[in-house]
Amino acid sequence: MTITHFSRAPIHALPPDVAERIAAGEVIERPVSVVKELLENALDAGAREIRVEMRGGGLRLMRVIDDGYGIPADELGRACARHSTSKIRRVEDLERLHTLGFRGEALASIAAVAEVNIVSRAIESETSGEEHPAASLTMRGGEVTQRGHKARLHGTTVTVRDLFYNVPARLKFMRATRTEAAHVEQVVRRYAIGYPAARFQLMQEEQITLQTSGSGDLAATLAELYNLPLLELLHPLSAALEEGSEHAFRLHGYIGNRALAQNSRQFVSVFVNGRWVQSRPLFDAIEAGYRGLLPKGKHPLLALHITLPPQDLDANVHPAKTEVKLAREAEVSSAITKTIRAALERSPALPETLDFPGPGLVYQRRLPGIRRRGLHVAESAGQYQAQQTNPTSAELLASLRPLAQLQQAVILAEAPDGSLYLIDQHRAHERVIYEHLRRTYAGVQAAHDGAHNGEEQWPEAHLLLEPVVVELKRHEADLFEQRLPMLRGMGLECERFGGRSFLVRSVPGSQEQLVGHLPELARLAAEDSNDWQDRLLIGLACRSAMRRGRVLGTDEQRSLINALASASAPAVCPHGSPIILHYSRSFLIDRFDW
Ligand code: ADP
Ligand code: MG
Repeated sequence: MTITHFSRAPIHALPPDVAERIAAGEVIERPVSVVKELLENALDAGAREIRVEMRGGGLRLMRVIDDGYGIPADELGRACARHSTSKIRRVEDLERLHTLGFRGEALASIAAVAEVNIVSRAIESETSGEEHPAASLTMRGGEVTQRGHKARLHGTTVTVRDLFYNVPARLKFMRATRTEAAHVEQVVRRYAIGYPAARFQLMQEEQITLQTSGSGDLAATLAELYNLPLLELLHPLSAALEEGSEHAFRLHGYIGNRALAQNSRQFVSVFVNGRWVQSRPLFDAIEAGYRGLLPKGKHPLLALHITLPPQDLDANVHPAKTEVKLAREAEVSSAITKTIRAALERSPALPETLDFPGPGLVYQRRLPGIRRRGLHVAESAGQYQAQQTNPTSAELLASLRPLAQLQQAVILAEAPDGSLYLIDQHRAHERVIYEHLRRTYAGVQAAHDGAHNGEEQWPEAHLLLEPVVVELKRHEADLFEQRLPMLRGMGLECERFGGRSFLVRSVPGSQEQLVGHLPELARLAAEDSNDWQDRLLIGLACRSAMRRGRVLGTDEQRSLINALASASAPAVCPHGSPIILHYSRSFLIDRFDW
C-alpha cells in the first residue's frame, strides 16, 4: 500500500523536459475515467473518508468528497492547469513515486470537457482562523466562470456537471446510464479493496450502492463488498521475500474458497504499491497458481497487494497508469504462483453452494462483525485469523477420527475441534496415487538427466500375468514408440508388437482395475500435447484408485485419511474437483442458530 503523505509540496507547472518524459496522459473517455482520477487525487491527499455521488450515469453529475489535506486557496487555479502537479518535480521523481497521480493533467482534461467546481480547504488553514477558509472555483470548457469562498472542514469536493457538453461526438457514443453506473461502481469497489483503511461510500441516483467501513482490514472489506457470509471463505495470502535486501517485496491478500470460483476474471484485483494494475505477466503468474486447482474456465475471487521498492516499479508506461513494468518480474511472479497454489491446495469445499451476490449487490444488509447475537464468527478478520487453523493442514487431517462410511463412497470424520469432514474415497485415493506417481516419475526423470545419484524411487511396476495388446492409430503409434523409455519410468513397460500394435507388460497399480483401461491410457500416452505426461499420470491415478462402492473398514478409512493428510493438495482431486467437504464449527453454529 502506498504511504499516506499528509504533507505536500505546492502545485507548480512541470518544466517542459519533465512533461515530455511523461507518457501521454489519459483522455477522458467516459464518466468512469473522471471518477477514477478524482478518487486517485483524494487518496493521494491522504483521505480516510471518500464519498462518490453520481447522477444520470455520470453525465449529469459526478461528485467526489474527501477529507484529505486540501488545496490552499492561492493554488486552486493552478490545480486545473495542464502539467501542474504537487507530486513530482524532476524526472528522477518518476523512479520513486509514492502517489497514484503524477502527470498534473487530470483536472485540466476534465475541466476542458465539462463544468467543474472545486471547493477545497487546506488542512493548515484550520489553525489560522480565516473567515472563509475554503476557496471555490468553477470552470466550464476550460475557462474560469466563477470564484468564491465557502465554509467547510479540510478536504476537497470536486463536482463535475454536463460532461461532454461541448464534445457531441463523445456524447453520441455514451452507453446506457446503467452501463456507465456499473463501470463507476466497479472502479470504486476496486479502490475500496486497494485502500481498506479508507471509508468509501457510493451514491447512485440517491441510493447507496456500495459502502465500506474503513476498518483497515482487507478481509473485512472484501466481506463487506461482496457480502460474504463467513470470513472463513477467504484464505489469507502472505509472503515476504528477499527480506533485508534492497529488493525486498511483500505479498498480502486473500483468495476466496474454491466454492467462490467465478466464470470471469472480474473478481481478481491486483495492486502494486497501492495502484490497481492490469498486467499480463502478473495475471499469468496468478493463473499458474490456480491452474488445476479450480475447475477449468473458473477464476478465483482474489485481492492481492504487492508491495515493492518504488524504484523497482515503472508506472509511467501507459496512459491510464494501469499497466506497469516490474524490474524483478520473474521473482515476483514465481512468488505469486507459489503463494496462491499453497492457499488453494488446502482449500476445502463448502457444504452447500453459496449464494454469492457479488457485484450485483445493491444494499449492504449487514456488515461482518455485527452479526446477530454476537456470533462466534470473529468480530474482525484479525481475530479470526488468530483463531483459524487451516482445516486441511496435515496435522488437522491426521487427527481426524473416522466415524462411518456413507453410501460406500464417502468417509465421515470428526476433527478434535468439533468440525465435520466428508471425504470422497475415490478422489482421495486418486490424489494420493497421483502425487506418488508424479514424485517417483520426477525422480526417474531427474536420474535420466543426471541430476540424481540413483537413489530415486521407481514406481512399482506390476508385471501383468498376460501382456495386453493395444492398437493405436498410425500417428499415435509413432509418438508412443518415441515415448517408450518415459513410459517405463511411469511403471508402464511396453514394446512394439509390429504395425500399430504394442504389448503392455506391466502397469504401476492394481492390475485388475487397470487392464480394462489400457487402450484409453495408451491413447493418453500418445497424445500430441505438451501436458500428455501429466494427463497420463492423472489417468493412471484415476483408473487405479479405489472406486466408490467399495466397503472400507475403520482401519482402511484411517489409513486413507493419513495418506491424504500428507498429500500436498489434499482438498482437490487432480481433475480439479473437491475431495473434502468441511462443515466448520462456526458453520454449524450459524446454521443451527445456536
Ligand atoms: P496529478 O494528480 O497528476 O498531480 P491532477 O490534475 O489530478 O494531477 O491534480 C493536480 C493537482 O491538484 C494535484 O497535484 C494536487 O496537488 C491537487 N489536487 C487535486 N485534487 C486534489 C484533492 N482531492 N485533494 C488535494 N489536492 C488535490
Ligand atoms: Mg491526479
